[in-house]
Amino acid sequence: MWKWQADAACRGMDSSVFFSPNGERGLARRRREEAARAICRACPVSSPCALFATASREPYGVWGGYTEAERREDIVRHRAAGNPAR
Ligand code: SF4
Repeated sequence: MWKWQADAACRGMDSSVFFSPNGERGLARRRREEAARAICRACPVSSPCALFATASREPYGVWGGYTEAERREDIVRHRAAGNPAR
């Protein structure tokens, strides 16, 4: 299940670019998230990473190029379309 992580572009990196520090807002947050997305765009395992984070309802961080807010929106859209909870 975690085998994909061996090929992660973020492996061994400082994880602070992927996770919001307390109180982070606005431009600082958008810049950090964009820096994380840039890493994810070049990652060969972005699909399994994004699927894992959504399926496990990972509440924090950028995973597979998606922020926590985007993952929450995806779950809301999924339910609004009449699909059962994931
Ligand atoms: S998609 Fe992003 S967060 Fe996921 S393993 Fe790759 S670099 Fe890390």
